[in-house]
Amino acid sequence: MDALAAIDGVLGRVTEIEAMAARLASSFPAVLAGVEQVLATAPEAPLAPSRGSLLPDTRRFGVSTTGPPLPPGLTPELVAWRGVVLNPAAMASFQEASRILGAPIRVTDSYRSHEQQAAAYDRKPGIAAPPGSSYHERGLAIDVDGDAYGGYDSAAFRRVAQVLESLGWHRFDPRGEPWHFSYLVTG
Ligand SMILES: [Zn+2]
Repeated sequence: MDALAAIDGVLGRVTEIEAMAARLASSFPAVLAGVEQVLATAPEAPLAPSRGSLLPDTRRFGVSTTGPPLPPGLTPELVAWRGVVLNPAAMASFQEASRILGAPIRVTDSYRSHEQQAAAYDRKPGIAAPPGSSYHERGLAIDVDGDAYGGYDSAAFRRVAQVLESLGWHRFDPRGEPWHFSYLVTG
């Protein structure tokens, strides 16, 4: 069954139960408490299907001017969605992965300006790439928030990795940098 239809069905049932509970409220206050509990744990509104196109609330952010060469066919544009900034092609894939997973993927980093990459390199030269050579500067890399998924060995994180990798994202160093994924490129 289609997941969105299933959620619509659940929400419809919640509405019905809520109406029933309102009728019974005078004699069965406990029923209302139960409905409150159901509503509190209801899933957040699902993402619209994205299949290769950007979600409507995606905003233009600017262009990337530094970083390694872009793969053929990609332009240096950048777009923003829910605090994540990426190249439009990478964003469409990121949104598709989020749709499959049922919620926006939690990341600690996406696009970095040249200055932000320089600062990251200063902070952790052994891990961050030198400014001018990072795919973060092209909006083609994300760092997934491992803590948000219970660590890099958790089933939840492995599921995120599996979905991203099925949509063209690569990890060039899964042991050293398990959080770092890049779209269509390796690095
Ligand atoms: Zn990274």
